[in-house]
Amino acid sequence: MKTEETSDEIRSKTRVLMPGVLEKLKNLIRYPSVAFPGYPSEPVTAMAAATAALLREYGLPAVRLIDIPGGYPAVYCEIPAPPGAPTVMMYAHYDVQPARKEDGWETDPWTAVEKDGRIYGRGAADDKSGIVMIAASLAVFDGKPPMGVKVLIEGEEETNSHLDAFVAAHPAFFRCDLFIIADMGNLSVGDPSLTTSLRGEVSCIVEVSTLKSPVHSGTFGGAAPDALIALMQMLATLHDANGDVAVPGLMTYSHGNPEYPADLYRESVGLLEGVDLTGTGSLGARLWSKPSVTVIGIDAPSINASANILIPRAGAKISMRIAPDADPRCELQILMDHIRAVAPWNVRVGMQEVSSSSGFICPTAGPGFAAACRALETAFEKPVLEKGSGGSIPLLHVLHNAAPDAEFILWGAADSAASCIHGTNESVDIGELERSIVAQSLFLSLMGNRRQNE
Ligand SMILES: [Zn+2]
Repeated sequence: MKTEETSDEIRSKTRVLMPGVLEKLKNLIRYPSVAFPGYPSEPVTAMAAATAALLREYGLPAVRLIDIPGGYPAVYCEIPAPPGAPTVMMYAHYDVQPARKEDGWETDPWTAVEKDGRIYGRGAADDKSGIVMIAASLAVFDGKPPMGVKVLIEGEEETNSHLDAFVAAHPAFFRCDLFIIADMGNLSVGDPSLTTSLRGEVSCIVEVSTLKSPVHSGTFGGAAPDALIALMQMLATLHDANGDVAVPGLMTYSHGNPEYPADLYRESVGLLEGVDLTGTGSLGARLWSKPSVTVIGIDAPSINASANILIPRAGAKISMRIAPDADPRCELQILMDHIRAVAPWNVRVGMQEVSSSSGFICPTAGPGFAAACRALETAFEKPVLEKGSGGSIPLLHVLHNAAPDAEFILWGAADSAASCIHGTNESVDIGELERSIVAQSLFLSLMGNRRQNE
């Protein structure tokens, strides 16, 4: 079967499937499947059941829920490989970030709305689009793809996942030749990309104390250190005047990155008019290769609760994205040593480690990566961009350990320009979803045919 014939067939089959795919995606958006602690569990378990039901409706065999100790179940099914064919494990997640209408959503986050060629709702892109993408690409083959398939849809990607421990305890279950992680996306609609590196993440909490208790700022202010001022001085040393990270000794990934168009970035990030970008060097390097530091929380009196006092204690949580190939323990240590070293006036500094997870670098020399490039190029009729990702997926390492020779294909239907994943008014472009399904089906076909041609 030639690629052109196959792609025409796949395109027309996908076209026929699309109305149903959209209905199914809209239905999945109804479930507020937030797996964070403190959120109700019923919608999450209902979402797991709905995901399993969807896979069954598309004719996938023996779909079941796997109990993940301590966490929400994963949805799983397996289609055995035809003799001699490779096996791919396709991954997505059914849990989502929280969403509240009052945070700025134009419509109810849990009611899918179709508007201007996009579907809006929490999880429309991240990662309920990944679920329908997997299901539909298998439906293109009527549930009988030319290669072996394992489908794994987890329920705790956005929170403390228990899947890592499960993978480590059951590596045989995850053995395969390739992983498809359908939880990424393109920079903008219509421009296909494969993600080949991801930064890691580390975080810590710093607490500064200076006084036994709050005291009157009129009586005592002027000679005793205020803990919040001290903390702010310390935090201000994390960046230089250009906005580059100024913590000495951190690693930068040396592999070249493609340029991220500045206009696209400004628009995607929602930068207010007149506000400068920070840092120096190419945007690709700033976002995907260099470390970036953010203060993600501060404990200090709120403006409403403020009084004329010297503040005795203040704290901050600092999160740092690290180079894809950096050692997270090492980078966290460098950050914490730096914070301690810059504390002024011998204030007391308490430090607490919170998290450290490695980045990831995808091997790109294998036949799966080549097939993925060809599939994307055919589906989008555009050359493929190899890009990094600023975010991290700690699970990739665990999967890599379970199947050390497996390739990783990281893609998806989200687009950085407009999908607003984790933000308000999250959405997925319908055309992008369709092209992603075509690409993934074509990938299955290319890998299956590759075997026959050998
Ligand atoms: Zn995701």
